[in-house]
Amino acid sequence: MTEFATDDTLGTPDAPETPETSGTPATPDARDTFPLYFDSVLETADDPTGRKWTWEEDGYTVYRSHARTGPGCHDNCGVLLYVKDGVLEKIEGDEENPYNQGRLCLRCLAFKEMLYHPDRLRHPLIRSGERGQNRWREVSWDEAYDYIEENLRRVFSLYGPETLYVAKGTGRDTNGYYARIAESLGSPNSSGAFFCGSSCYLPRIASAGLKAGAMFVSDYSQNSPLRFDDPRFQVPECTMVWGNNFPVANSDGTLGWWLLECMKRGTKIITIDPKLTWVAAHSEIFLQIR
Ligand code: SF4
Repeated sequence: MTEFATDDTLGTPDAPETPETSGTPATPDARDTFPLYFDSVLETADDPTGRKWTWEEDGYTVYRSHARTGPGCHDNCGVLLYVKDGVLEKIEGDEENPYNQGRLCLRCLAFKEMLYHPDRLRHPLIRSGERGQNRWREVSWDEAYDYIEENLRRVFSLYGPETLYVAKGTGRDTNGYYARIAESLGSPNSSGAFFCGSSCYLPRIASAGLKAGAMFVSDYSQNSPLRFDDPRFQVPECTMVWGNNFPVANSDGTLGWWLLECMKRGTKIITIDPKLTWVAAHSEIFLQIR
């Protein structure tokens, strides 16, 4: 990638020739892809309690880590990754992790399928046909960055840098960079919030405010290493579930099995939902709205 400068004018770049694909990139060696989603594995050290972060078991190298799978999960459940010859063969919940106590939902259990799916995007692609023809060619990252740079320059020369608007989806750990990227390219336009958050997070927060007066975090003993056995934890007598099939959804910071554990310990459920879900069927009161 060349250094960016805003003082010259470029036409549409001619990208170098590479073999064409028709939508599906070539599949690289799976070993190249494994660390991408679990890179914390590479940085985790054995902890002072004596727990190991990696060991050999039945022909596998097992890595203890946390999962933060896309799309749509911020829960970071503890996982054990079973790897053979550099390939992830299975993934299981870490029973020593108090947050999920060995449980995983379908998103993590199916993670291997996503990781090695032939349609997974692994390299930058540049369109090589007309829009809608679904014809692409695979390019290197350097070439992709050059392509972006050259087109940014072309657009800036026509309309000015203010034409750039920098926005993002969710991404808690990258929030600080977007305004700086926009600013360094000469645009005052960037999004401090997140686009997908506007359609999911903000409505949730707003509806929580309307119902409870504030954003609240339910107490399922998730802050205690002893979890449900912590004598300080009081099992809720009643929990109201609004439009959420929590054993399936595992929405942000509320794992379905947490509430199931509370139900086993006596929590009664009131469900408000248009749909007769599993939760609704196991509720004391089901208010089925239209
Ligand atoms: S909630 Fe599900 S997807 Fe999220 S980290 Fe836990 S098991 Fe994985």
